[in-house]
Formats: sequence, structure tokens, C-alpha cells
Amino acid sequence: MKFDIMTLFPEMVSGILSESIIGRAQKAGLISITCHNIRDYSDNKHKNVDDTPFGGGRGMVMAAPPIAACIEDITKGLPADERRRIIYLSPKGKVLTQAKASSLLAYDRLILLCGHYEGIDQRVLDEYVDEEISIGDYVLTGGELPACVLVDTVARMVDGVLAMPECFEDESIASGLLEYPQYTRPPVFRGSAVPEVLLSGNHQAINAWRHEAALALTRERRPDLYEAYLLLHPAPPPKKKRRPTKDETTD
Ligand code: SAM
Repeated sequence: MKFDIMTLFPEMVSGILSESIIGRAQKAGLISITCHNIRDYSDNKHKNVDDTPFGGGRGMVMAAPPIAACIEDITKGLPADERRRIIYLSPKGKVLTQAKASSLLAYDRLILLCGHYEGIDQRVLDEYVDEEISIGDYVLTGGELPACVLVDTVARMVDGVLAMPECFEDESIASGLLEYPQYTRPPVFRGSAVPEVLLSGNHQAINAWRHEAALALTRERRPDLYEAYLLLHPAPPPKKKRRPTKDETTD
């Protein structure tokens, strides 16, 4: 899967995405991430990319021409049958979810546009952008961190990026529940012991404990997820009391 990230601050993005699992996935050729500096597409001698908003008001707006030129440069010569999507990271977009991230795996290439300042001239968004995605109901100074969040969450689901696909199928949100608490050595830390069942080697008991712990945590912290989970996984009806046989009732 290929990611192209259009930004005014490529180092912010490449620094984060060159480390750890996503960095290794790039080295292994499982994904590719290319940063494009929008400033390189400015045709004025000071390499300006923003201007004051028409109609007045605070701040600066990123101008359309360098962004349009950058998108056209990225997309020129790409195969016609390549499945690609141009996404603007924006607080006005639909909020990113695990389901949304999974659906983006259907594309061969995601082209991500990072805004800055007061945002981007609407005309370039109208012409090129397929959708706007927000990473949450708060406002950041730029789209670079949201782009890294989007790349990370999509890329870790690409085949081969995680050693075991269950890693993301079993964990919080994707499973429908928040994940059970995790523990590792030492078995006692500052007087606090690991739940005994986890040391028992009894995998049925361990799975049952983990499921109960996940249910309890989700009920406490995310009643919305808990209710949705119960609708999909209704508890089995309580076992009916066995009717006494004739022999048992007659003395
Ligand atoms: N004036 C804009 C508004 O009120 O909608 C906010 C602009 S924000 C300061 C600058 C840039 O940061 C945006 O163009 C966008 O790319 C990015 N950004 C900020 N918050 C974001 C969020 N929650 N999700 C995705 N991108 C965000």
C-alpha cells in the first residue's frame, strides 16, 4: 500500500513514520510512504504558500495553486486502474474510527493533504479531495499529526506489518470491547501480584477471565460500546430448572 503525504513540514511526518513497526514495514517493502513538500510547488520567488482570507478575518489560508500542482505531480503517470483516494485531514471531516481505517485498506494508494494555519482554499478541496477525515473533536495546529495517526492505523492492518493478524483483531475497539488488562514479568511488582489465573497455564480459564475483564472494563468506561456488543452477542438464556421426574416427586 502506498501513502503520499502533502505537507509544509515533511520532517514532522517522516520523523514519526520512520521509527518502529511502520519504519520496519517500509524497509521490508510492505508499505511505502512519500512526503511531498507543498512549498516546492509555489511559483513565487519567496516560496509563499498562504495568503490572507478574502472577506477579512484572522490568520492565513493555504492557497490553491501550489496544492493543485502538488496533487497533479503526484498523480501524473499513475496507472489508470489504481484505486486511490485523496483525503484532507480536517476537523470538519468525519471522525476516524477503526471501521473507517479498515475500509481504507481497499485502496492501493492514499494521498493525504495536511492543512495548516486557518485551513485550505475551498476550491482546491472541491476539485480534488474525495473525503475529509478528522481524528477527533479538537483542533490541532496542523494536519501532520492526524496524517501520521491515519497512516499508522491503516498501515498496521496491511498484511505482514504485524507478526500476527490476531494482534489487531482481538484488541480494543476492533473486537467490539476494550481489551482486558495485560501483565508481564515480574509476577509481583511492589507488592501487587498478577491475577493468579494468568499463571495457571489453564487456557480455558485464562480466556474466560480475560473475556470477563474486557466486559467489565467496557461496561465501566464505554457503555456505548458495551450496549452495542450485547446487541450482537446476547447472553445465553439462563438454564431452565430441570423438572423433577415422577420417581423424585413420589416418595
Ligand atoms: N480554521 C479551521 C477550522 O476551524 O476548521 C482549523 C484549521 S487547523 C488550525 C489547521 C489544520 O490542522 C487543518 O487544516 C487540518 O489539516 C489540521 N487539523 C486540525 N485539527 C484536526 C483534526 N481534529 N483532525 C484532522 N486534522 C486537523
